[in-house]
Amino acid sequence: MIYTVNGPITKEKMQATLCHEHFKCETDENYANQLYFDRKYDEAKIDEAYGVLLPVLQKLYSSGCRSIAEASPPLLGQNIKLLRKLSLASKMNIIPCTGYNLPKYVHRIHSEMYSEQLAAQWIKDFEAGLDTIDGIVIKPGHLKLLLDRGKLSDVDKEMLLAAIAANKKTGIPIHCHILEAAMAQEVMDLLEEEAANFEKFLWSHAIRDIDAGAINRAVKLGIWLGLDIIQKSTFEVNMNIIKEAIKEGYENRLLLSQDYDFYDESLSYGENHPCASLFTDFIPYCIANGIPADTIKEVISKNPAEFYDF
Ligand SMILES: [Zn+2]
Repeated sequence: MIYTVNGPITKEKMQATLCHEHFKCETDENYANQLYFDRKYDEAKIDEAYGVLLPVLQKLYSSGCRSIAEASPPLLGQNIKLLRKLSLASKMNIIPCTGYNLPKYVHRIHSEMYSEQLAAQWIKDFEAGLDTIDGIVIKPGHLKLLLDRGKLSDVDKEMLLAAIAANKKTGIPIHCHILEAAMAQEVMDLLEEEAANFEKFLWSHAIRDIDAGAINRAVKLGIWLGLDIIQKSTFEVNMNIIKEAIKEGYENRLLLSQDYDFYDESLSYGENHPCASLFTDFIPYCIANGIPADTIKEVISKNPAEFYDF
């Protein structure tokens, strides 16, 4: 099943999906903690954000989008109640996450059993749900991690081990922000050592540091590649990667998205926000440049259904 804020849905219901977007990143860490650990919501803040976000979702729906994965982990203030309200009003399937929920310095003091405790928390998030609203147990549909740059740090390694353990226990897909190809190689070493489930591992932002060696290794392992920063300035490079993937036969491992913060974009640009441009501009651009319409349709709908289903 695919776990949304309206409960589980089947693969057929996913259709055209944005795999990595942010509804509203929360900079107030106290509020973010309150949302995740206490399920305490500020109704006035929800109403305000709902007013800004609903038109964005309506534009996306009318452009053909049917599902969106929220890529803001608990520490960035994912708001389950807001997401559910938006989903009900817009008919959009919204896939919430669990994952990165503690500042990394916590590991400096609480290093013992760190990955075991994190894994237990994420398993609990899945088994008990992130919250229960209107009688619906809302389970996370993916596990979002953010790794730093440079060498894989101790805390990031522990976080990965916890995610691998949570995946083995529940099946939850791992959605992992990695900005550098060298880091991706280190992560793949670890995944191999741990005999992790490659089919449920997404290298998000794979386009940020294009490296044929790392991409080829990922493709051989069966890891998913996130072409998830498709914005006007990156149309060409993304299209070229899709063409290359089709040529090499790994287009069935691509997940597309834009990585916008919908709230910020809507506040900055009003109705002219670019949050639906993957549908209104990028897909037509790909088709005009020779990518078969059926192929791009499969990439945008079949691939996400495959990755998020467990
Ligand atoms: Zn993001």
